[in-house]
Amino acid sequence: MRIVSLASGSSGNCTLIVSENARLLIDVGLSKRQILQRLEKLLGPRPRIDGILITHEHTDHISGLGQVARAFQCPIYASEGTAPLLEPALSSSEKLLAFTPNQIFQVRDLFIEPFPIPHDAAQPCGFAIAEESLFASFNARIAVATDLGVVTEEIRQRLSECDLVMLESNHDIEMLLNGWYPEDLKRRILSDVGHLSNEAAAQTLQYLAERGRLRTAVLMHLSKNNNRPKLALETVQRHLNGTEVAVAIAPRDRMSAIFTV
Ligand SMILES: [Zn+2]
Ligand SMILES: [Zn+2]
Repeated sequence: MRIVSLASGSSGNCTLIVSENARLLIDVGLSKRQILQRLEKLLGPRPRIDGILITHEHTDHISGLGQVARAFQCPIYASEGTAPLLEPALSSSEKLLAFTPNQIFQVRDLFIEPFPIPHDAAQPCGFAIAEESLFASFNARIAVATDLGVVTEEIRQRLSECDLVMLESNHDIEMLLNGWYPEDLKRRILSDVGHLSNEAAAQTLQYLAERGRLRTAVLMHLSKNNNRPKLALETVQRHLNGTEVAVAIAPRDRMSAIFTV
């Protein structure tokens, strides 16, 4: 499997996953033009997409949904709680499929397990994704968990089964507290249904590194105002000292590196 973030943060989120037989997008918070441009760079002209997974209904994750779904004519997968909120963006021609969190579904050769994440949206989910193989326990697995206030024990267990984890590292707590955001917005971000701090991401990744399976961590959804890529990277690397885990950043406004598992 190969995975690349096309953009990550409050101005737009979109991630591409490519397996032998499947190409999936997770979230479509960019314009159709931006998504097509980046996909053509990666996949060549007139790229095919087999499905769009939606984490939650916030604008930075769905702003391009209608146009992108029509362009690719592929199904959209969203949780039962999220799906009805996507309908206004869609016409009758798009296929919207609702999934139940914790129930595995399949798109071509990819097995997708959505899991609940705590965030102030209707029914937000992260995704653990594995490639089909005869030897299920050796499958490469990735997880994407972004926009979550806390990492619960259930989420930690999910992530600990993955080789590559894309995890939110939204803010530095000091920068947020000392910054210019209104108090109620600061409280929302810091709450259990807000966004994950660098420190919380670092502690989670340290736990995962100690469990042994994690090889690559990609830090997602960095705040423009309350974080700096270097600071997020240093905070996480401090916790991963002495481990073999590679850490990278998903930039806000351009593609990340391409990661392979
Ligand atoms: Zn977001
Ligand atoms: Zn959100």
